[in-house]
Order: sequence, then C-alpha cells, then structure tokens
Amino acid sequence: MSPSTSEKSKKPDWIRVKAPSAHFDATHDIVQRHSLHTVCEEASCPNIGECWSKKHATFIVMGDTCTRSCAFCNVKTGKPQKLDSTEPFRVAKAVQEMALKHVVITSVDRDDLKDGGASHFSQCIKLIREYSPHTTIEVLTPDFRNKNDALHIIASAKPDVFNHNLETVPSKYIAIRPGARYFHSLQLLFQMKQLVPDIFTKSGIMLGLGETKIEVIQLMDDLIAAKVDFITIGQYLRPSPKHVEVSEYITPAVFDEYKTIALSKGFLMVASSPLTRSSFHAEEDFLQLKRNKILSSQSFK
Ligand code: SF4
Repeated sequence: MSPSTSEKSKKPDWIRVKAPSAHFDATHDIVQRHSLHTVCEEASCPNIGECWSKKHATFIVMGDTCTRSCAFCNVKTGKPQKLDSTEPFRVAKAVQEMALKHVVITSVDRDDLKDGGASHFSQCIKLIREYSPHTTIEVLTPDFRNKNDALHIIASAKPDVFNHNLETVPSKYIAIRPGARYFHSLQLLFQMKQLVPDIFTKSGIMLGLGETKIEVIQLMDDLIAAKVDFITIGQYLRPSPKHVEVSEYITPAVFDEYKTIALSKGFLMVASSPLTRSSFHAEEDFLQLKRNKILSSQSFK
C-alpha cells in the first residue's frame, strides 16, 4: 500500500465525527464561565463532539489572536491582546472543576512578547499543580524563535509532556508555516530533552498537504535523532475556503502503514489515523506512554 493510493477532492467516508453527547454542554459552560479559549473551538477541531462529551478540552492561552499566519490554521492573525495575568488562575480553576487527570495547554504565537509567553505557560503549570496536584500537564508550545530564555523557563516548570508540532515536512514550510523554521523546531525538541531528560517529548504532523512518503519517513528519522518519544500523524482538514487546499485524503490503511514504520524506527508511541490530533486521547496516550517507557527500559536490562 502506498500513500499515493489516497483519495482526492471531497471528504471521504472515514472522516466521520461523533455527535456531541451528555457532558458537552457542561464542558462548554465551564469554558464560558471562566472566559477561556479552547483550540477545540478556535481550530474547528473535528473531534470536539467526542472530547467535550468526555469533558476533555484543550485550552489555548494568551488570547485568540496569533502573531503568525500559517496557511492551515483557523486561529485569527493580528495584533494580540494585552496578556491577562488572571488567565493562569482561571485555567487552573477550570481544570479543577473539570477534574481533568491530564490537561493540554497550548497558545497562540506571541512573537510580540519578550519571552514568547513562556512565563505565562509556566504560571499556568504552577497554578494547575497547586489546585490539581494529581493532574499531569502537557504543554503544546509555539517555537519560541528568537526567544532565548523561553525553553529554560518552560523546562524549569517541568511539565510532564513537552509537545511542539513540526506540522509538515520541510519542503512545505514556506507555503504552510512561513514564520517557522523546520530545523529550529527540531532543535527545540532536542534541547528540551537535554534540559529535562525524563520529560516526554511529542510532535505531530498533518498529512494531505502535498508531502511525499520519502519526506514523511525522513521527518520520522529527524524526530528520532531529536530524541522525540511520541509522534502524532493526522489528516489536514481545510477549515475554510481561505485556507490552503487539501491535496489528498490519505486512507486509513496508509495511516496504519505510517504507524508501523514509525514504531519500527523506535518511537515509544505513535498515534496515526485520519482524525488524530495532538491532544486527541491525550490522557489515555499519556498513560500508555508511561507504560511503554517502563516496558522499553525493562527490555534493555
Ligand atoms: S482533539 Fe484536542 S483540540 Fe480537538 S476537540 Fe479534542 S481536545 Fe479539543
């Protein structure tokens, strides 16, 4: 099976989303009451029905306006709002109220801030720990380009998982992620592992942006060289006609093939399916990641 066997044009049957059920409104209510933003809504995530019904949401902090303008992303671009110092507290209260066992915090890019928003992430981690000491914390950060101290600030706060998405293969960066640099992002992941050797590192990509199979496999090798533990691979879905077109819908069989290849390269964990997103099933995946680490350390004894 080759990735070139995927379908083009209209959304295929396997991109099916679950309808919202029981707790969806309760999650919505908590998010609203604490005046928070979620990437679930801002990015028009196809999994919102399932996640919110399970009372899982991924908070996006530091406003709803990004200083970058990536071709795939639904978050609006512009001059961001002044940083709200009460937000980490509101996030912590929402996490406590939702009784989350594992939380994912992400942010818009804040190139306008001296530390890129690293201290704000750090404050979120600190307060979540204070209010929900048993909750594990995953941060999905921007690339902090030209923000020298940012990674050290995040490392000092010791999240359980450091996630930074490569998003796509290097040949697509100019078109898809023009403000970012592929090797800078790889370096960020590698440096975090050097700073905090026992942290889990994670990175994700989208397929269907015109990448080739060879490029995806090379990217896996690059992530392995950067000591990344967990790769997520999902289908790019066009949020609106203003965004870059889907070049192809990759079949579930090809996602499975990529999973097999990635596992053979040595990732501790791989999530690869059309609806895989960085934060989809993050709680279950974190537990599995921990189990896989124990198993892999035992197999080297
Ligand atoms: S996959 Fe992530 S972004 Fe999407 S709805 Fe679930 S928690 Fe939100």
